[in-house]
Amino acid sequence: MATVTKLQKKSQPNVKHTECFIGGRWTPAASGKTFDTINPATEEVIAQVAEGDAEDVDAAVAAARDALENGPWGKIDARDRGRLLYKLADLMEDELDELAALETLDNGKPIRDAKAADLPLAIDCLRYYAGFADKIHGQTIPVRGNYFTYTRREPVGVAGQIIPWNFPILMVCWKWGPALAAGCTLVMKPAEQTPLTCLRLARLAQKAGIPDGVINVVPGYGPTAGAAIVKHPQVNKIAFTGEHRTAQVIMRDASETLKRLTFELGGKSPNIVFADADLDAAAVGSHFALYFNQGQCCCAGSRLFVEDKVYDQFVDKLVTMNQHRKLGDPADPGTEQGPQVDQAQFDKIMHYIDLGKQEGAQCLTGGKRFGDRGYFIEPTLFADVRDDMSIARDEIFGPVLSILRFKDVDEIVDRANNTLYGLAAAVWTRDVSKAHHLAAKVKAGTVWINCYDVFDAAAPFGGFKMSGMGRELGERGLDAYTETKTVTLNLGE
Ligand code: ADP
Repeated sequence: MATVTKLQKKSQPNVKHTECFIGGRWTPAASGKTFDTINPATEEVIAQVAEGDAEDVDAAVAAARDALENGPWGKIDARDRGRLLYKLADLMEDELDELAALETLDNGKPIRDAKAADLPLAIDCLRYYAGFADKIHGQTIPVRGNYFTYTRREPVGVAGQIIPWNFPILMVCWKWGPALAAGCTLVMKPAEQTPLTCLRLARLAQKAGIPDGVINVVPGYGPTAGAAIVKHPQVNKIAFTGEHRTAQVIMRDASETLKRLTFELGGKSPNIVFADADLDAAAVGSHFALYFNQGQCCCAGSRLFVEDKVYDQFVDKLVTMNQHRKLGDPADPGTEQGPQVDQAQFDKIMHYIDLGKQEGAQCLTGGKRFGDRGYFIEPTLFADVRDDMSIARDEIFGPVLSILRFKDVDEIVDRANNTLYGLAAAVWTRDVSKAHHLAAKVKAGTVWINCYDVFDAAAPFGGFKMSGMGRELGERGLDAYTETKTVTLNLGE
């Protein structure tokens, strides 16, 4: 089984901010309530965080609206808005080690991932959108008659942004980048499991010179603080990342005020390996596709389809990789897999592992808790999985890989698409025609060919079907944060 790295007593990063950040000030929740944020590697309480609710959301929305309509934010040149975003990105780079350590403490992800993936991608995203701030423009339009018609792209207003716990810093930047570039102000609710880095970034934004009230953060729970943002009549738009069931609640709650909605939701992404692929590269890529971030990725390649001819040898490669995986203290730079984020996720994943065993899949590695404290689960691999099993249908969001067998390209498209979701897919083959045929046929927002989890701020990301609505990243990521206004001038006779 996987190698152990022990939990060490190391100096922990400072937790500097635990209150609501409203109108540029740190304030306790109006109710005075707090909730614990837990270190998932030790199950110990890191800090008590303000438990925001409707009253705090009211104050945050008022601050955001005031900053939008009366503050300097609405008046500064677009290029200077961009400069503030560049400055925030620079400050994050200066504090990269500290931010990564705080992320690892609160989320449990290995420090090497936080440093190599989360932080660089987050900083890059801010810089990408910083460059767009002065390039969001309308058109002049030749209409019939003697009129001059043009469009303006105006900020949608106050954006409500609700994010999950799996990539806290990255999700902040995916949401703040386009919102701020477009000139919106915002109220964000971080996930209750991982509020600390979002609060730290709010402080850095203030230090960068982003005017008070432009960014407001209300930590708290979904059905209280989150729902209050969604229902608030002065919030114009909701950007949400999380589970599709939560998105359904948000859609209902937002219907009263007809808010603009963008959703980035879950997945059960097919990862398809043909016999003609570079099998070593495909094995490394398929392992990464599922086990990266403890399997807590909405686009995880959790349904691995392997062509019959190479099935057994391919499964062996993955088994060996799991046997050598280093689990343990996420703050240790050698650690490859940390704990799951909390007890609820741990329990849910263990439940699916039990279901996989009961339904007759072959558990070849893992299947158990790792160690005796912290929410660690051994890298688990099920072979001989059938399409109708729960572990092949439901999003597990943990280190549990389901490997299925297929015969040829004719059968695989239907099987790959036989899911509620459509976030991502991957194909491994040396046959270019086959790769592009599948890329066109698979119903998913992203298709990777001979790679997996390649993200770039410039490349749109989002889901077909129950995996979401709208796209984040790329130029189109700005659409959700702008309203188009048509202006027509009568030029007379
Ligand atoms: P997960 O199960 O991965 O935590 P959720 O969809 O429950 O995913 O949570 C993602 C984010 O949505 C979190 O910030 C959570 O607090 C928030 N949330 C949960 N329920 C609601 C709700 N009813 N309204 C608004 N936000 C919610």
